[in-house]
Amino acid sequence: MVATNVTKPSPSHTIPVIPTHCKAGVVVNEGPNFEVRVATVPVPTPGPDEILVRLNATGLCSSDLHLMAADLGTPPMSAFGVRSPGHEGAGIVVQVGANVKTFQVGDRAGIKPILDTCNNCDLCWDDKETYCSGAVLTGLAVAGTYQQFIVSPARYASPIPDGIPDEVAAPIMCSAST
Ligand SMILES: [Zn+2]
Ligand SMILES: [Zn+2]
Repeated sequence: MVATNVTKPSPSHTIPVIPTHCKAGVVVNEGPNFEVRVATVPVPTPGPDEILVRLNATGLCSSDLHLMAADLGTPPMSAFGVRSPGHEGAGIVVQVGANVKTFQVGDRAGIKPILDTCNNCDLCWDDKETYCSGAVLTGLAVAGTYQQFIVSPARYASPIPDGIPDEVAAPIMCSAST
């Protein structure tokens, strides 16, 4: 076997100091004539089992348009106090909760349409957690990936391998996988 000087690839983006606020695309005039504007929003703080991800890319899914138009039959985003849609995110972990063992700062992580499930019902225990009545929908029930920073349960975030650009990885979280 030939020895080569293989160095571990460094994260593709430098990890910044975590700001208190960040930019987000937010829906204005939710409904058939909605608009998306750029606003400044607080950066969320991860809980003990969560990671904070600085997103480098988000997919733009037609479901986002429907959620902002509020025509999917779900309660509107505003019913949850949510302004940012988006459920296809890729970025880098910048903070981990005290209990998190599966991600480290600097790792890459993806955010999917379901941010979390109850993890404690027959559907969750039978690999059908996408039908869990306690599923938390990203960009509807919680702020989505049109934000620069998002928290995710560590157990439900997706590791992203090296070699896949963020702008490719992000839409794989939803549209490519469906
Ligand atoms: Zn989607
Ligand atoms: Zn469940």
